[in-house]
Amino acid sequence: MRRELEESLCEEFPNLFRQYSYRKSSYYTLFIACGDGWEPIIRRLSERITKIVETIVEQHTDPTDTEISEETEDRKRAEGGPRIRFTRRDFRFMYIKEKYGMLHLSLSQRTPELEEAMNDARQESGCTCESCGRPGTFGGHSWLGVFCGHHGFDDRRILNF
Ligand SMILES: [Zn+2]
Repeated sequence: MRRELEESLCEEFPNLFRQYSYRKSSYYTLFIACGDGWEPIIRRLSERITKIVETIVEQHTDPTDTEISEETEDRKRAEGGPRIRFTRRDFRFMYIKEKYGMLHLSLSQRTPELEEAMNDARQESGCTCESCGRPGTFGGHSWLGVFCGHHGFDDRRILNF
């Protein structure tokens, strides 16, 4: 994906893309390994995840109980206790890439709602041209992918990564 698009995602969703921002500052390029056409899918997914995360963070924040130590939190987490507290920083993308022609993503935390959001994005990538974002179909010979009639299955050079 083009660097400007990656940077704009990092700026808009600093927690979700923390891993990317961090690497950028230390001169590593951990790019979002898919074509520009999937950027709107990733952006919409990031907005949806942000909303879900807000509900999780609220649900687990007890304003009367601010003195819990990290150690206690870790223990409660391990025990699966009801007072697990998450912060927004606990939720970040571990990777975003194209694999076997589909969008593959991993988040640092899982809940059924987050899984559903990720699955929807994946499904959407299955009918969206990876190059330009127009409706596309899955296919190819030497290279499997989703492309529209305008962008060929075998011309990987258009994808900017
Ligand atoms: Zn296209």
